[in-house]
Amino acid sequence: MALIVQKYGGSSLATLDCIREVARRVSQRKKEGNDLVVVVSAMGNATNDLLKLAHEITEQPAARELDMLLSAGERISMSLLAMALHTIGEPSISFTGSQSGIVTDTSHTHAKILEIRADRIKEQLGLGKVVIVAGFQGVSTQKEVTTLGRGGSDVTAVALSVALSAKQCEFYKDVDGVYTKDPNHDADAQKMERCDYDRVLSLVHEGAKVLHPEALVLAKKYSIPLYVASSFNQCIGTTIEHSSSHQSSHI
Ligand code: ADP
Ligand code: ASP
Ligand code: MG
Repeated sequence: MALIVQKYGGSSLATLDCIREVARRVSQRKKEGNDLVVVVSAMGNATNDLLKLAHEITEQPAARELDMLLSAGERISMSLLAMALHTIGEPSISFTGSQSGIVTDTSHTHAKILEIRADRIKEQLGLGKVVIVAGFQGVSTQKEVTTLGRGGSDVTAVALSVALSAKQCEFYKDVDGVYTKDPNHDADAQKMERCDYDRVLSLVHEGAKVLHPEALVLAKKYSIPLYVASSFNQCIGTTIEHSSSHQSSHI
């Protein structure tokens, strides 16, 4: 059975109705015959709201405590999504970064993933469950909760795709693909149905916040095909992979 990793961003999980709709989509994809790992961001503006609380308490929150606080955002969305799946009869289980075996270095608030010990995820997939993973977080080599930096759930999704040899990593957003320019600002932006990693990397380096650059670099390195589409409609999205002229270094 092919394994797909899906990632849903904050705008796709902003309300309970959004979470119910994501559950419906996840369940449908599962019924098509795929094993599914679903990476979630925090609901809507939850991460910004938590940051604001921290800065109301103190001008200089300790980085360790910020990680404890911010990691709570994804715990909320992952557990609600699991519950929404249960209500429609889809077996699922949610895991924090730590429970998912995502081991990072000790750099609080901008940790790097060192290794993923995916045994628990594999075990639950083997039981037929959809596994939901809290994006943007891990556990350090010192056993502390860490976060990966803003937008880090994209990195979680690709790193899990590598660790689990996923067939594809899919990103569901409030835009229906990668455009030549930000479609929310430029009416003449064109959607690209297919492009290579470097094309998106150059857009991101020019400031397009459509995917995290580290996620793109990792996907390119391990040849993980990416697919970016809307979580609000069924339009064909953008496939990002090596161009046909690319020669795999593994051959
Ligand atoms: P996430 O799920 O990671 O939170 P969003 O739902 O915020 O992602 O969607 C990505 C955002 O990136 C869009 O709202 C869009 O305005 C912005 N964006 C900037 N440049 C581009 C681009 N070239 N193509 C697509 N989206 C872009
Ligand atoms: N919730 C975190 C953020 O807002 C991580 C993410 O969404 O990728 O940055
Ligand atoms: Mg966003």
